[in-house]
Amino acid sequence: MGTSQKRPARSFPLIPLATVLVAGLLVAAAILITPPGQSTPGGTNLANAAMQVTDLPLKQLSPQAFADVERDLDATETPEPTTPVHAGKPTTVVVKRGDSLSAIFMRLGIYSNLAQLLKPGEDHRALERIYPGQKLVFTLSGTRLDRLELVQTPYRSLVYSRNNDSFVAETLHRQLDTILQYAGGHIDSSLYLAGHRAGMSDTLIQDLVHIFRWDIDFALDLRVGDSFSILYEKHLLDGEEVEDGEIAAAEFVNKGITYRAYRYTDESGRTDYYTLEGKSLHRTFLRTPVKIARISSYFNPRRRHPILNVIRAHRGVDYAAPTGTPIQATGAGRVIYRGTKGQYGKMIVLRHGNIYSTLYAHMSRYARGTGVGRTVKQGQTIGYVGSTGLSTGPHLHYEFRVNGVHRNPLKVKLPQTKSLPKAEMDRFLATIHAPARQLDAYALNRLALQAL
Ligand SMILES: [Zn+2]
Repeated sequence: MGTSQKRPARSFPLIPLATVLVAGLLVAAAILITPPGQSTPGGTNLANAAMQVTDLPLKQLSPQAFADVERDLDATETPEPTTPVHAGKPTTVVVKRGDSLSAIFMRLGIYSNLAQLLKPGEDHRALERIYPGQKLVFTLSGTRLDRLELVQTPYRSLVYSRNNDSFVAETLHRQLDTILQYAGGHIDSSLYLAGHRAGMSDTLIQDLVHIFRWDIDFALDLRVGDSFSILYEKHLLDGEEVEDGEIAAAEFVNKGITYRAYRYTDESGRTDYYTLEGKSLHRTFLRTPVKIARISSYFNPRRRHPILNVIRAHRGVDYAAPTGTPIQATGAGRVIYRGTKGQYGKMIVLRHGNIYSTLYAHMSRYARGTGVGRTVKQGQTIGYVGSTGLSTGPHLHYEFRVNGVHRNPLKVKLPQTKSLPKAEMDRFLATIHAPARQLDAYALNRLALQAL
């Protein structure tokens, strides 16, 4: 396995075991007292919220309006209720049930012509569809409206700005804060259960599977005791969690082998996951052509054939799966054969460059766009599991050939796509330094807990 790193990880310093355990226990204590959902100490603020909503001093408003105005003052700002009103101070209104824009204008004592705002156009139509709970932020000069912000999501607003006697609309995006958050766990029944227990969303679990899909067959290889750690981005707005971002670094320990991945955007702007050595985790081939299946027959040069009852080499791997299960091209390539061929039944052969070819047999049907000569992408569905040809039940027979020679698809060394150029390694190592150290700390912690 080119990308696996055996423990201890390269960045572990050589210090006596007792020291390691004490350090680990300290980390453990620090982690245990950090409640879930809280940011890690290493969390970084990448940006600050760009906008602040402040209120019009309250004495300017009628008692009715007073009740409608949601006080949203920034915590660092001191309210100044005695200061006389000056132009440009925004007022936030939360739309009530049965509210209309004209009713809100009346309550705020705005004398601007509503028709100036509600002119034809997609942006302006949004104002006709205000709904209860939605926020509107008004900026007035006396009784004249200068600016109206319609808050659509926590980080997107439509803003109408006065331009003489009309309003110009534009969309405003608010900057989110981003922190790195840790999640981790070990598998005792399923990855999804372990992931949920660690507070991960389904999307985040799928992202984790996606990162390591080249090295680990998640349908077949997972074992009780496997473990995972991730550092992922969490986007915040004014300290509130808004959404998860990308996984920045991940570790997966499968069958005792530690795999690590770091997200990195190279100098040409391409983002990928790499090992500590700067090798892309991306491979030219997927290990398995079906996502959910069990292996019903292995590559075996001396197999007794289940139907013919004679010794005959089984030169591929059989994946048992229900009829209709999608079959994906394991690599990008070109269709060089599609048709029915004796015991293989309906099959497709793909050619990948000059050296490799793959074969998919016993299909129930072909997917669209797989005629001879067509190119297919890696992961593209090329057909569906069936039981055509000589077959005891629905399964996919998959072959992998190197220079025309059958190789075991589960064991063959798959070609790697690329490594980072030497000139970029310093930049890469600087980028991944902090997340790598954090993953080290969590790995130490896990070892220390196991030693207890
Ligand atoms: Zn077979």
